[in-house]
Amino acid sequence: MSLWILGLAGGIGSGKTAATDHFQRLGITVVDADVAARTVVEPGQPALAAIAARFGDDVIDAEGRLRRPVLREIVFSDPEQRRALEAITHPAIRDELTRQLAAASSPYAILASPLLWESGQVGLVSRTLLIDAPEALQMERASTRDGVSREQIAAIMKAQWSRQQRLDHAHDVLVNDGSLEQLQAGVEELHARYLDMAGKQEKSS
Ligand code: ATP
Repeated sequence: MSLWILGLAGGIGSGKTAATDHFQRLGITVVDADVAARTVVEPGQPALAAIAARFGDDVIDAEGRLRRPVLREIVFSDPEQRRALEAITHPAIRDELTRQLAAASSPYAILASPLLWESGQVGLVSRTLLIDAPEALQMERASTRDGVSREQIAAIMKAQWSRQQRLDHAHDVLVNDGSLEQLQAGVEELHARYLDMAGKQEKSS
């Protein structure tokens, strides 16, 4: 029987972490796609060897670690190189996510991914939840948290799907434009529904 999995997405600074922290407090296993993306390029991982074979040893430092700025420079303005990189990393990330999700022992599990639809990771989940915030609030929260410039945040927002594209695709939307307490109350309401949905899947299988 496969586990019922919720895909949780949202743009930069929308409140994904604030929401998943609360799901975790409720006992739900959360698998983070950003963490998996870093794991698969750690020294000794096959994807890192494949990257070195494709892009040259310059992308690896003396300790055998990925030199991200060098690789970023190569793929930044060259779509073909970017596709070549993604052809290596995407399957590796997917395998890592599948492995971590299979190890989850909670009634359902969450796959948190800033690029849930863009990356195709949506194929791993049963249902999707969008954490949604007005763009001005996303900007405010992300710049306060990271001390990153508004220009950099705007560039990241441009590279991600638009708020409307995400709204068009998500099954559920949790609007995070109030207090943290309001966000947590919304999470609890959804959690009760997800327990129900996951339980029904279990019965029917
Ligand atoms: P990223 O994609 O950049 O990792 P994220 O979607 O995970 O962002 P969070 O880190 O959860 O976003 O939230 C961004 C910042 O805004 C954090 O400092 C968080 O504590 C704060 N924040 C989130 N939601 C609220 C809220 N409802 N009220 C006040 N602060 C909030």
